[in-house]
Amino acid sequence: MYKATTGNKVTHQPHCRFCGTALHQTFVDLGMSPLCESYLGAEKINEMEPFYPLHVYVCDQCFLVQLEEFVSPEHIFTEYAYFSSYADSWLSHCRRYTDMIVDRFHYGKESFVVELASNDGYLLQYFVEKQIPTLGVEPAANVAKVAVEKGVPTLVEFFGTDCARRMAANGQQADLIIGNNVLAQVTDLNDFVAGMKLLLKPTGVITIEFPHLSRLVEGNQFDTIYHEHFSYFSFITAERIFAAHGLTLFDVEELPTHGGSLRIYGRHCDDQTKPVSDRAIALRTLEEEEGITDSAYYTAFAEQVKETKRKLLNFLIEARGQGKTVAGYGAPGKGNTLLNYCGVRTDFLDYTVDRNPYKQGKFLPGTHIPIFAPEKIQETQPDYVLILPWNFKDEIMAQVSHIRGWGGKFVVPIPEVTIYS
Ligand SMILES: [Zn+2]
Repeated sequence: MYKATTGNKVTHQPHCRFCGTALHQTFVDLGMSPLCESYLGAEKINEMEPFYPLHVYVCDQCFLVQLEEFVSPEHIFTEYAYFSSYADSWLSHCRRYTDMIVDRFHYGKESFVVELASNDGYLLQYFVEKQIPTLGVEPAANVAKVAVEKGVPTLVEFFGTDCARRMAANGQQADLIIGNNVLAQVTDLNDFVAGMKLLLKPTGVITIEFPHLSRLVEGNQFDTIYHEHFSYFSFITAERIFAAHGLTLFDVEELPTHGGSLRIYGRHCDDQTKPVSDRAIALRTLEEEEGITDSAYYTAFAEQVKETKRKLLNFLIEARGQGKTVAGYGAPGKGNTLLNYCGVRTDFLDYTVDRNPYKQGKFLPGTHIPIFAPEKIQETQPDYVLILPWNFKDEIMAQVSHIRGWGGKFVVPIPEVTIYS
């Protein structure tokens, strides 16, 4: 990604993060937005705030959907506000994964499991419980500290070939490498995947989970696009990227997490012990049928996004016009993309609440909507509660069901505005 000078004109010409092809085709342009995890303290809200383009391209060679890098990962991730452990359904997902993978590949006390972007040890804690040796690699020092306190050994570092080479030289090659929702956040995608190749034992397994591009398009999940997510993957594109680094995807599962994710299973190309599954072949065929390798697939998306903005604003204008009150639930990154793109501020949404104490007392970036503890909802009894982390809507509607006592209703914005009374 760089700026090229042509004669007297400066033209901006981004290039594909994986294959280097010039990017010409827009997937969606969400305008200018602040970094969605940069929650503001009260002392900051009168200061200038940087906004960056949320303009997503698709590569017409490899079909990697991607954003340019405007801010370095070092800036974004060295003190990250997101602590994975706060969502109950995510923790049970991780526990089920641990039981499944240990059973399928027979891991035990002689195995070594490495998680990349291990956060606060939300996942590796379940391997530790089973006395399986683990190591987390996590660049955010404040988050890694919490993991270590839980008994999950953690290296505070960004993962790539440098880190992998050192670990391999220390005899720390892995039987299992896990990466959940990290691949999208990697700017040097080739270095990251090459690092996994170096770190993996000859018959080792890599499992990576990421939001599935097909679900993003089908479910209109444009709010999952933010500056911290540089890439958006189909199975076919992921397969190409891994293959370029000598890794074969031998299996895949479709998961309901984060609005619909894939869990891909990788191994060395020359590891014949794990044949490619029927599921992997079927998903590749399905994506081809959907049009993943056809640029027309990507052009319809932008219009769908504009229509969603109009529908959400129509709802809010009507509700406020009738004198109703609207509060938010949750302060996730996706909420910030949605609210900034739609121009929703305290004129429409009085406040939002979040269970994460790190966010309470702060303000959402860009829109400056205040974040309170969940008890605020009981105190103010709003007519509508807009659920921003819609992927946890069932859990949230169960937790906050008491709003029905005063006739309160839930509103879920994605895939389209839906009211639950
Ligand atoms: Zn490309």
